[in-house]
Amino acid sequence: MANDQFDADVIVIGAGPGGYVAAIRAAQLGAKVTVVEKEYLGGTCLNWGCIPSKAMIASVERLQDIKHADAMGVSISGEVTMDFDKMMARKDKIVQTQRGGVGYLFKKNKITHVEGFAKFIDAHTLEVSKDGNSQTLRAKNFILAMGSSVIYLKIPGLEGGREDGVWTSDDAVTAPFVPKRMLILGGGAVGVEFSYVFSGLGSEVTLVEMQDRVIPMFDADLGVELGKQLSKVGVKVKAGAGLEKCEKVAGGWKCTVKTGDKVEEIEVDVVLLGVGRKANVDGMGLEEIGVKLHRRGVEITGDHFQTHVPNIYAIGDVHGAIQLAHVASYEGIIAAHNIVEGKAEVADYKAVPNCVYTVPEVAGVGLTEAKAREKGYDVKVGKAGFRSNGKAMANGHQDGVVKVIIDAKYGELLGLHMIGSHVTDMIHEGVVALNLEATLDSLLGSIHAHPTMAEVVLEAYEDAHGMAIHKA
Ligand code: FAD
Repeated sequence: MANDQFDADVIVIGAGPGGYVAAIRAAQLGAKVTVVEKEYLGGTCLNWGCIPSKAMIASVERLQDIKHADAMGVSISGEVTMDFDKMMARKDKIVQTQRGGVGYLFKKNKITHVEGFAKFIDAHTLEVSKDGNSQTLRAKNFILAMGSSVIYLKIPGLEGGREDGVWTSDDAVTAPFVPKRMLILGGGAVGVEFSYVFSGLGSEVTLVEMQDRVIPMFDADLGVELGKQLSKVGVKVKAGAGLEKCEKVAGGWKCTVKTGDKVEEIEVDVVLLGVGRKANVDGMGLEEIGVKLHRRGVEITGDHFQTHVPNIYAIGDVHGAIQLAHVASYEGIIAAHNIVEGKAEVADYKAVPNCVYTVPEVAGVGLTEAKAREKGYDVKVGKAGFRSNGKAMANGHQDGVVKVIIDAKYGELLGLHMIGSHVTDMIHEGVVALNLEATLDSLLGSIHAHPTMAEVVLEAYEDAHGMAIHKA
């Protein structure tokens, strides 16, 4: 496609999981591709989000496993402690290795990587600036994949940044030390994951969530259960609560937290803002060339990801629909096909898995029970717990439950929701089943290996059918 007029067929702006995947797919389809990235290959997910947070979680989980190894018959003498610097160095190494992997894939697919900040001059021309130098790049098509960044929520009295003990998730994944006391605002995925990490490292954590339970975007049963599990490991979970104001005191912050009618003052060293991100659209000349913006980012005209300027597409966090790495990648692949092959494929969000990597893990796909009822379905619900499952007992991970939502009329699977060990891997049987519009009959006939944690999914299907074998 590229000719003398253009440097590339497609320029992708941003090398996060949306942008780098879109770039590779466009190159695989034969397009000449350039990626412009102002910071690190891999974007938020690899550098500040999914990967560093999971590396930290894994270290804390290992520490806890060792501390509780006695129950498994393992005797450990001496003190078991975390070398925090070493833990963070391991995390950094994982991030750097993964970053290198993206660079390698760019080379393999003959993708040009240009470092710098991209700004539009017109609908086919970018100015890319770095360290006071700039260059112009022209392309037939563009994919906007600039992602999102942390924001500082406005809390009365709370001012400053990292040095003042006001942290965002970017600060948490690069934490210089383990604060003695923390208040984490927001009980979404980010808030609960960091609550698990820092409390496991010895921090006294108070988690403040506005809704009546943590992870409110998940099926209610999972949020209630996770709240209990976090409390069990020492996190002070305050649901239905708000951070009213903060006052600077020696060594940290005095925070006023209101839960119902109860008002309490909690002193902490660090307030971690675990909520709020904004799309990276500033200073790029987008509106000047006709790309429309809305409150959450770039406006797309339909599910095939075109913006109001037909040769410019937008994917991932920057258009603000579902802010998950795997959704960004999925959208990137569709956008690449649409551009290079002239298609108008649309995305199907029916089976997007959503996962939380606390211990225990949480995963859900499809409709929650509440959403299914709200949509007017007559639902059958099946539940089964991990407590009596043989593999769970052998592994010492018996907490948690699987819940299935079935349409009573046609027997179609509507949703699968789980909390427990390894559920972020197990959820994919629900993803496939939903995509194939599986019915309860076919699910009941799907043999699950013994002994596995996944047998509990089959048991939940059997419960929805009214005939669970192991139900007490
Ligand atoms: P990003 O990953 O944000 O990448 C955008 C890139 O564009 C960045 O590298 C940026 O530097 C670059 N850029 C921006 N503007 C310009 C410009 N003008 N010129 C050049 N380059 C530019 N999601 C999950 O699915 N699973 C998880 O476990 C998970 N954990 C998370 C944990 C944390 C703490 C956070 C903060 C997020 C987490 N997420 C997770 C969300 C996930 O990181 C995002 O949904 C994902 O990174 C979005 O991908 P993206 O490609 O749209 O954008």
